[in-house]
Amino acid sequence: MLTSHKVDNLTKEKRSKIMRSIKSKNTKPELLVRKLLTQLGYRYRLHKKDLPGKPDIVFPGRKKAIFIHGCFWHGHPNCLIAKIPDNEFWQKKIQNNIQRDEKQYQELILLGWRVLILWECELRDSKKLIEVLVSFINGEELKISSPSQNNIS
Ligand SMILES: [Zn+2]
Repeated sequence: MLTSHKVDNLTKEKRSKIMRSIKSKNTKPELLVRKLLTQLGYRYRLHKKDLPGKPDIVFPGRKKAIFIHGCFWHGHPNCLIAKIPDNEFWQKKIQNNIQRDEKQYQELILLGWRVLILWECELRDSKKLIEVLVSFINGEELKISSPSQNNIS
């Protein structure tokens, strides 16, 4: 019963090859993630404007969406690199962003999507990032599967 198919096994060589290639260039967070996904062999779409929040990267067939957030603008909680200034203007502005983000995630989830938030500061650890991406994209969805969706792959 517990057959585990479609498990991505990244070989050590492949993983380090990918990590070398992304370390060599100073890319923007989103480009870095896109490049990783391409090298991992995933096909994705960019900035779906018809979805709440216009996710940065989407996998339409899998109904999974990735947001890549700048820590400052999106108010990353307990972030080590970005702190909200001790200033009412910025606190209010960033608080609004956080609330808007939350609303958009909820809308996506209600539409049946799964959402992954990647914070800028977390992208520094390429090894961890690869693991997070692979497990999100291939993650089992059994808890919320409905009978009508069983045959769709
Ligand atoms: Zn952060």
